[in-house]
Amino acid sequence: MRLILLGAPGAGKGTVAKMLTQIDGSVQISTGDILRAAVKEGTELGKEAQGYMERGELVPDSLIMGIMEERLQQDDCQKGFLLDGFPRTIPQAEELEKLLEKLNITLDGVVNLNVPREVILDRLTTRRTCEDCGAIYNVKSNPPKVEGVCDKCGGKVVQRADETEEAISKRLDVFNEQTAPLVGFYEEKGNLWDINATSSDEVVRIIKEKLGLS
Ligand code: ADP
Ligand code: ZN
Repeated sequence: MRLILLGAPGAGKGTVAKMLTQIDGSVQISTGDILRAAVKEGTELGKEAQGYMERGELVPDSLIMGIMEERLQQDDCQKGFLLDGFPRTIPQAEELEKLLEKLNITLDGVVNLNVPREVILDRLTTRRTCEDCGAIYNVKSNPPKVEGVCDKCGGKVVQRADETEEAISKRLDVFNEQTAPLVGFYEEKGNLWDINATSSDEVVRIIKEKLGLS
């Protein structure tokens, strides 16, 4: 499957993407995970991106497009991919159209994960992430078996640097201003699937149904 997952921070893009990879071997492409790995490794890309990320701002479109152009051409994308956290602005969406055309790739659809703001705020403040593999936990509803240790890889489970209250509020503002307009952009193209995303299991069920996989 080839899908874009749209939705506010905390809407469950990462969780849904990971569940979908189990179905047909499609890969999750999370620009957030790629950037966090670059920051951790201290690469040039990481150094450029770090400040923006910690403030809850978007990284410049040019950096992101470079990452995506390279990533979409890797072999593991042949089976399909789930774009998680990209595109994030209208210019990124326009560039992506050109890139997909150039690479001769057609999307199956664009999924909009719709979640009420109160749920988003609660999820983000209680979310924890594995530093090494990116697995997502929640201190209330889905804690790791051993506190602070990833069940899957043994890595450290931490609160992200951009998950302070201040950065969360900034990320939500940035989302409303720069990313929410993508819903209209894809609606006009006629390939938007708007899904109530309070339950990730339910989202996956609906996507499978739409793809004729259930
Ligand atoms: P979220 O939970 O907010 O969706 P992500 O892990 O997708 O978080 O992204 C974390 C940060 O990485 C963003 O706040 C932003 O600084 C940067 N980032 C990720 N994807 C993009 C993108 N497509 N364009 C610009 N910045 C991005
Ligand atoms: Zn892990």
